[in-house]
Amino acid sequence: MSSTNIENTIGTVLLSEEDIQSRVRELGRELGAEYDGKNPILVNILKGGFIFLADLVRAMDVHCEMDFMVVSSYENRTESSGVVRILSDLGLNIEGRHVLIVEDIVDTGLTLEYIRELLLARNPASLGVVTLLDKYEKRIVKVPIEFTGFRIPNEFVVGYGLDYAQRFRNLPYITVLDEGDLELAESREEETK
Ligand code: 5GP
Repeated sequence: MSSTNIENTIGTVLLSEEDIQSRVRELGRELGAEYDGKNPILVNILKGGFIFLADLVRAMDVHCEMDFMVVSSYENRTESSGVVRILSDLGLNIEGRHVLIVEDIVDTGLTLEYIRELLLARNPASLGVVTLLDKYEKRIVKVPIEFTGFRIPNEFVVGYGLDYAQRFRNLPYITVLDEGDLELAESREEETK
């Protein structure tokens, strides 16, 4: 195996591919029942949420529409700055529609709170939230989350859409990166330059 292989770069697996797939199928069934006949708009928060959305909608047996927002809050760091930048806004008009925000992870809650307020101001018929991961220990704002995949401890995780400095999104599982892993990842990145 080459030293640039991602399997070789990373720390401790927190959620296996099987854990994730089976929970996402369950969530898809629950959401399918909740939104049956409502033709919801699923608002996916990019980039981290793209893999979750792709699996989730295939497990929801209802008509729905999808749209995307690109937000940036961490700027290559592993802690929230509290500053949310909308890099790309929705294309669809959500007024009078049932809207479901599809998030990868909620940590302090600042990003989600900002997005909720922004979307509520556009007068949707309803606004719900599904997050794959709820990293609840460092929550700063109490933001309502209707559907949660997994509650996880306060660790920095990557994989299944989540990155560190844009890498590791394509791992099919979720893994914890500690300081040593981050240093290793950075030195391997130097080697490949
Ligand atoms: P919050 O505003 O709730 O503190 O952070 C939400 C955003 O921070 C998420 O959408 C995600 O982009 C990023 N984030 C929070 N925790 C993690 C983590 O453990 N790993 C990664 N890769 N991103 C995280």
